Amino acid sequence: MEETTNNNEEKKSLNFIEEIIEEDLRNGVNEGRVHTRFPPEPNGYLHIGHAKSICLNFGLGKKYNGKTNLRFDDTNPVKEDVEYVDSIMEDVKWLGFDWEDRLFYASDYFEQLYEYAIILIKKGKAFVCDMNAEEISETRGTPTRPGKESPYRGRTIEENLDLFTRMRKGEFPDGAKVLRAKIDMSSPNMHMRDPIIYRILHTSHHRTGDQWCIYPMYDFAHGQSDSLEHITHSICTLEFEVHRPLYDWFIREIGIYAPRQIEFARLNLTYTVMSKRKLLDLVKEGFVQGWDDPRMPTICGLRRRGYTPESIRNFAETIGVAKRDNVIDVSLLEFCIREDLNKRANRLMAVLNPLKVIIDNYPDDLVEEMNATNNPEDESRGKRKVPFSKTIYIEQDDFMETPQGKFFRLSPGREVRLRSAYIIKCESVVKEPETGRILEIHCSYDPMTKSGMAESNRKVKSTLHWVSAKHAVTAEIRLYDRLFIKENPDEVEEGKTYKDYFNTNSLKICSALIEPAVISAKNLDKFQFERIGYFAVDKDTTPKNLVFNRVVPLKDSWNKNEKK
Ligand code: ATP
Ligand code: MG
Repeated sequence: MEETTNNNEEKKSLNFIEEIIEEDLRNGVNEGRVHTRFPPEPNGYLHIGHAKSICLNFGLGKKYNGKTNLRFDDTNPVKEDVEYVDSIMEDVKWLGFDWEDRLFYASDYFEQLYEYAIILIKKGKAFVCDMNAEEISETRGTPTRPGKESPYRGRTIEENLDLFTRMRKGEFPDGAKVLRAKIDMSSPNMHMRDPIIYRILHTSHHRTGDQWCIYPMYDFAHGQSDSLEHITHSICTLEFEVHRPLYDWFIREIGIYAPRQIEFARLNLTYTVMSKRKLLDLVKEGFVQGWDDPRMPTICGLRRRGYTPESIRNFAETIGVAKRDNVIDVSLLEFCIREDLNKRANRLMAVLNPLKVIIDNYPDDLVEEMNATNNPEDESRGKRKVPFSKTIYIEQDDFMETPQGKFFRLSPGREVRLRSAYIIKCESVVKEPETGRILEIHCSYDPMTKSGMAESNRKVKSTLHWVSAKHAVTAEIRLYDRLFIKENPDEVEEGKTYKDYFNTNSLKICSALIEPAVISAKNLDKFQFERIGYFAVDKDTTPKNLVFNRVVPLKDSWNKNEKK
């Protein structure tokens, strides 16, 4: 309570994990070392929730001058694959983090973990059980009713050692036996009820091949791996809180270094699901086109969509670290990328729903090169040339034959400015006689209002984007919407699954006419299509077919930005 105001202020800005770490540092715990790790299981691609954990763990390592390991918790060969290992490394690097020479695998510790199991057996703290999975689960009890002890619980140490060694040698088929910790079948914590610590799996492992036919359970590998790596702060998500007593028990019984486990709330986002299993189902069942489908909340999906590492790191920083489960509005993520791309992305003019405009008093064959600012937020990005000619396209939405309400854009007799070009006035409308559909409009331009000239300051109510018809490049545009129609698709009504809330309109494909500067765009280049949104070049682009993903629509138009 004696702290100065300054100190209090400093304290306020720390999240609860930083507070714990700083307290440990003050108390000289672990000789002042801070060592964290990011421990994915390579059974799927990483999602934005993992990004949160990566930013947190690597961020703490950096902040406290410590270290952060990347460790694959690869204890389940049935679900894991090198494809996932590779993608995870790529994603962590792309997010801007570096594990240096500290890349580890739980599978590197298989021999050590086996030795730990032997220690437990020798202490009478583990036994080989012949019950099958069903019997084990039936005798586990419920949180309010104690479980039943296994009839094999009384096996002698010698018998257990013999059987466990033979399990390793491959003498028994899958499922015939397991090694269980001998703890307490009536513990109120279900995880303490003689949990399985080793199972028989005659399955090749992506790293150890056929060297093993018994594999440690995740719970028997995770805490000990942290211990082996001398992790000081093992940061996990909340669901591991109930596992902590078990991890502590293993560490204590084996007698090894004890990291400090701290749990935080996992990130949930509205309109999406965040479990690898569910995301895998969406991929396998063809709801999306792959793990990197730009609608997916995976890191590779976000990258392909056009998200930048900076925007994701900023998002992770903004949401902070919570102790209780919560759901973050996906629009906050969208806000972060919009803010980042506003500074980063060059502007281009593109028309998605073209309406032909003929400027009657403009010379037939004249082409003028207009000067356009690449990024008004960053003058150093300079200017580009945009060709202007007699026939242009504007957005259909920017014209109304009979303007209503607050519509100040183009309509008969009214003037608007064409971005970086001239002021034009609508003189007449040509319609299809049968349907009344507008085919084209005719305008006049005022040569004295060319952008940059004195007259160009003349007041008009609107500025429109446009493209020159004969110079425009056609591109395929993929417009994305939320992946699910329900804010929380995990909350399902009776008889439904989250898949029933899949948004079948989450992808719309259209085309756009874009100013010719776009032709030099490369995969992942990002642009602001003025007044429309941010777009990124997709990897499906070929020399003949330019494909863009819409990252996010633009909330505020550049008309507003202009005034700054
Ligand atoms: P999922 O439930 O999506 O399958 P997981 O927890 O099984 O994810 P792991 O590979 O075990 O995935 O996770 C690696 C690390 O990322 C863990 O420390 C885990 O706590 C953390 N993590 C996973 N999902 C989230 C999330 N939504 N928010 C924050 N951290 C997460
Ligand atoms: Mg997991």
